Amino acid sequence: MGICDSCHSGCCRSFAVPISGADIHQFTHQQNLNFWDFACRWEDAEGLISRNLAPHFFFADDPETPFVICLKHIPSASFPGTTKCRFLMECLPDEEYPKGLGRCGIYQERPQTCRCFPAKLNDSNELAILYDIPSNGRDGEPAYDLCSRQWTASDLNPNETIQSLIIARYEMTFFSKIAMIWNQTPGEWNHFPEFIDRIYSNRIISEPRQNTPSQSTTVAENAEPFNKAA
Ligand code: SF4
Ligand code: SF4
Repeated sequence: MGICDSCHSGCCRSFAVPISGADIHQFTHQQNLNFWDFACRWEDAEGLISRNLAPHFFFADDPETPFVICLKHIPSASFPGTTKCRFLMECLPDEEYPKGLGRCGIYQERPQTCRCFPAKLNDSNELAILYDIPSNGRDGEPAYDLCSRQWTASDLNPNETIQSLIIARYEMTFFSKIAMIWNQTPGEWNHFPEFIDRIYSNRIISEPRQNTPSQSTTVAENAEPFNKAA
């Protein structure tokens, strides 16, 4: 039995989970989810959510506040008064599992941030480092209790872990480029999904042929029509 199998998923309750534009595109195009049903913006003035990886976005309605785009939280049924990731499915507490059980409702399609937990890349991007997990992820509430023991290397597949970390790093680096473009002229929050969709729906281009009109070849060019319209 894996370490998570008997857990109420305190990680999916405690943390704001940053998502990338690629995650957003995956949810909206492959799962047919509405952006407003799964995404939100979390204030991150101290950089505790971005952790120097997820980009900060600014918006016209609150131009001084840096935000990280994250998975939405909703109220928990198992732990009234607390919140959880909107994709976390809860099995109510019983004698065997006094905190209940938690299961990810989109496990196969979960964001890269979730796939990487609880590891990060070392400085040379060659090894995965396991985080030292605290006993509680927030304020001591039992809902936010974390792993029952520290993770060890044998809990994870070494190749899949490194590959997930590399993809997560790549996508957040690309998303940071997108943030730089957006933040040049921050638009309204309600225009954000359309902007992201334009960028991520145009990640594949054809090699230019002679005597044909030239296509956009950079993400900045793809964003330009939106910026002009905004
Ligand atoms: S998407 Fe799944 S794994 Fe990620 S926080 Fe939500 S429930 Fe947990
Ligand atoms: S809190 Fe730890 S053991 Fe529980 S689901 Fe999350 S990662 Fe797994």
